[in-house]
Amino acid sequence: MSTFLVEIVTPERKVYEETANMVSVKGVEGELGILPNHIPLVTPLRIAPVTIKRGGVVDIIAVNGGFIEVRKDKVVILAESAELARDIDVRRAEAAKKRAEERLAKREQIDYHRAELALQRALNRLSVGR
Ligand code: ATP
Repeated sequence: MSTFLVEIVTPERKVYEETANMVSVKGVEGELGILPNHIPLVTPLRIAPVTIKRGGVVDIIAVNGGFIEVRKDKVVILAESAELARDIDVRRAEAAKKRAEERLAKREQIDYHRAELALQRALNRLSVGR
């Protein structure tokens, strides 16, 4: 079975680097399944889990927006933040979810968009980390 390299990089560190058979992401225009020899592309990602299949293993990573770049023999995901399931602090994500929900509930909320994004990140982490 043919393979390709997958990297997930944030401004802080390289979160993930493996040889994979398939990558599934949620792009702004919909779900995208990438197999070997996919045509090159760059597209923005939603705040959502990324699924990577390699051999019999499936890795799930909470990717909090960013871009995917499909190159000839390599896929690079650039994200503001990304966490492997095992690195997610579920309690922290629960607290972040609560904070964001409280902010969104307040009518005087000014930075609604920011709270909305924080909530999406928390929900993404919870869905991957639980
Ligand atoms: P919080 O309000 O809890 O800080 P946040 O969504 O504002 O959450 P980010 O700014 O997206 O946090 O991330 C800051 C750093 O903390 C990144 O390195 C990110 O990977 C890490 N991080 C955030 N939340 C968690 C979590 N629940 N578990 C593990 N790492 C986390």
